[in-house]
Amino acid sequence: MIQFLDLHKINQPYEALFQAKLKSVLDKGWYILGNEVEKFENHFADYCGTKFCIGVGNGLDALILIFKAYIELGKLQKGDEIIVPANTYIASILAILQADLIPVLVEPDEKTFNLDPNLLAEKITSKTKAILVVHLYGQLADMNKINDFANQHSLIVVEDAAQAHGAKSEIPENKLQISNSNTQNLEPRTYNLQQASAYSFYPSKNLGALGDGGAITTNDLDLANVLFSLRNYGSEVKYHNDFIGVNSRLDELQAAFLNVKLPNLDSENERRVDIAKKYLAEIKNDKITLPFYDNSTNHVFHLFVIRTRNRNELQEYLAKNSIQTQIHYPIPPHKQKALKELNHLSFPITEKMHDQVLSLPMSPVLRDEEVAQIIQIINQY
Ligand SMILES: *Cc1c(COP(=O)(O)O)cnc(C)c1O
Repeated sequence: MIQFLDLHKINQPYEALFQAKLKSVLDKGWYILGNEVEKFENHFADYCGTKFCIGVGNGLDALILIFKAYIELGKLQKGDEIIVPANTYIASILAILQADLIPVLVEPDEKTFNLDPNLLAEKITSKTKAILVVHLYGQLADMNKINDFANQHSLIVVEDAAQAHGAKSEIPENKLQISNSNTQNLEPRTYNLQQASAYSFYPSKNLGALGDGGAITTNDLDLANVLFSLRNYGSEVKYHNDFIGVNSRLDELQAAFLNVKLPNLDSENERRVDIAKKYLAEIKNDKITLPFYDNSTNHVFHLFVIRTRNRNELQEYLAKNSIQTQIHYPIPPHKQKALKELNHLSFPITEKMHDQVLSLPMSPVLRDEEVAQIIQIINQY
């Protein structure tokens, strides 16, 4: 049986280092917002090429807190409209709603699964204040076009980078300087020219903890200060509360484990890309559409998502041949029971994708023989 994702195998090589970290945190006796969180925040900010990183409880909270911080700063107001891709994981939309903002859904580009910049103009109203970009499946959205549009209309751009840790885009020279002004020769990850990016360290993500975790990266000092406070009861100085905050701190032990894994993120992402290249070169089946990839560093293949008309049939065929697959995602957010107020909407591209997508096994610990076997079985379908 080839598992879709073998988390034990992914984490097993780090076991001795995890044990040492556990002992060190245990011995220190400081379990909340200690040295490990601070160290991770510094390292992850460096890795992303941003000035600040704020560790939080999970990826959903990272998104909610970004929006709440903009409301505290007066840059967003309750009831403002936020443009978001219709085919995202529901967390992106829940975050908008939980910050008392209004999600405005837009269809993706059928080729890349990502937000289609050409459809932004028809979605904008006087209440539109931000775009929440989602780098779905690990591939960066078309940030040059999206940023240009946002600049023209004075919109905030927030990135949901929960699936795209380490993805790098080619950034025009003139903009590179802005993002790197206070960091030494660091290459910006995801885009990071944006006002803020949200990350999740849910165990299955490209950088995964042994439990929940999340972070926000930004170059905006004011935003960072509000976020450091909001995640911790709205308090910077103990028992002095400046905002109606929440308790959403990155856990000290999870930060310690992430400190162990972060140095290997790039090599693990490279292994994912190698596997993807093999799938792309060798899967040859008329019934299957392979994902678009431009051979650049802008994709870290969190997921390898193919499309086919008889998706459920293909999934059963693969299961019979001992290959586990998953569907990301079977029901689009606007058709979920939880989002009744969106149920009447129709997004044909999004709905078609949800009927056709299938995620093949993808992880840095997938062996070459397993990849070859998957390719062979798919080609015989
Ligand atoms: C995983 C994920 C989230 C949420 O992260 P959690 O840590 O599970 O809260 C948000 N957006 C996207 C696109 C995700 O894939």
